[in-house]
Amino acid sequence: MSSSEIVVVGGGIGGLTGALALARAGRAVRVLERASGFTEVGAGLQLAPNATRLLDRLGVLDEVLDIGVQPARLVLADARTGDGLAWSDLERARRVFGHPYVVMHRHDLLDILLRACQAAGVTLETDRAVTGVQTSADEAQVTCADGSSYAAHAVVAADGLRSTLRASMHADEPVTTGDVAYRGALPIEEVKRPHDPDTVIFWLAPGMHLVQYPVRRGEMYNQVAVFSSPSYAAGAQDWGNPEELEAAFAGTCPPVRTALDSLNRGFRWPIYDRPPIDRMTQGRVVLLGDAAHAMVQFLAQGACQAIEDAVTLAEQLTRHDPVLALDAGSSEVGAAGGQASLERALAAYESIRAPRVARVQRSARVWGEMWHIDGVGLTLRNELFRRIEPDDFSHADWLWGWRTPGD
Ligand SMILES: Cc1cc2nc3c(=O)[nH]c(=O)nc-3n(C[C@H](O)[C@H](O)[C@H](O)COP(=O)(O)OP(=O)(O)OC[C@H]3O[C@@H](n4cnc5c(N)ncnc54)[C@H](O)[C@@H]3O)c2cc1C
Repeated sequence: MSSSEIVVVGGGIGGLTGALALARAGRAVRVLERASGFTEVGAGLQLAPNATRLLDRLGVLDEVLDIGVQPARLVLADARTGDGLAWSDLERARRVFGHPYVVMHRHDLLDILLRACQAAGVTLETDRAVTGVQTSADEAQVTCADGSSYAAHAVVAADGLRSTLRASMHADEPVTTGDVAYRGALPIEEVKRPHDPDTVIFWLAPGMHLVQYPVRRGEMYNQVAVFSSPSYAAGAQDWGNPEELEAAFAGTCPPVRTALDSLNRGFRWPIYDRPPIDRMTQGRVVLLGDAAHAMVQFLAQGACQAIEDAVTLAEQLTRHDPVLALDAGSSEVGAAGGQASLERALAAYESIRAPRVARVQRSARVWGEMWHIDGVGLTLRNELFRRIEPDDFSHADWLWGWRTPGD
């Protein structure tokens, strides 16, 4: 009998949410993670209502709310003058969208997903660097660098920005914007003068911005400084170094300058995205998360979109390629449907997700340009921002109000 197991390659937020959604839908799931543990960057993450709605459906929202923070407002401010530009009332957003905006430590979310996967019976393996997948009419065969191999009904490629499995589907490469991020979450007592604990604040100036918010029940504080590197534009190898960080933030107001004092300069993240694609599946392989649609971080939606992918994939498999009981009355599940029903499910997933994520990827780029704009564009942007009412979410409805077809 061919395998009924679904193998998820990559145990980041996308892979573990995918594994959990599939297990909740009654699938046998195995996660293969290249690293020696399930870990995340020591920094924060914003989760908008489109993601918290789905975490609720997966049964983990209570834990997320227990350790995350529900800020009262998002604030946009001018990083040079310190003046407020616009703000959004997140309590009102929760009433409009039915679910909260949450900020949390990445480790905390990954831990919650890992425990939920364990409780749902997902098999979790580390030190498994997947090198390739062969698919046939009956099954997929996943091979790893250590020589191990696994038969699978379907393979979910959630192996991130530099996905190995995407490379066999698309010949593209990650694209950098020339922006670089320095980020990290520190115990709140180690941060000099953190901003109001009820606020996610975005400080904007030409070619740079800083984001600050509390995480882990307010015990830690997350800061992300991003700037457009002049030496990237000049073709330098060592672009985006700490000296450039200092120079980029030189003309900013005192709260922003103070924030830089508690920023870890030991590691930097050059910002990359991928061009939008129409094709997210091939044979028995399907792309999910950054492997499918890495995006610049300006809309804070990369992980949120991976969560949308995860739930949509599980829904479409249930609809088109349901699990078959081995025999009436058995609690075990046997072989899932054949190749045709799997292909129908993956094609349905692709037709829902590809246009959605392409719009988010493109909008994230435009939003980034608006944040870093200079000259007359900046004057016009500020004028526009000042007109937005704190309780008006009509501009965010397409993003935060999205629902899966099964919702
Ligand atoms: C500065 C910054 C701020 C951001 N802020 C936000 C935010 O506030 N909100 C938000 O929603 N998003 C945000 N994002 C985006 C978000 O971090 C990503 O979109 C998300 O983490 C992607 O998750 P993923 O699981 O798809 O990929 P990854 O997190 O990259 O996970 C991929 C996993 O696959 C494993 N892997 C790779 N190759 C293999 C292989 N061959 N075999 C087995 N395993 C493999 C890796 O070890 C890793 O564990 C931000 C990004 C940046 C850079």
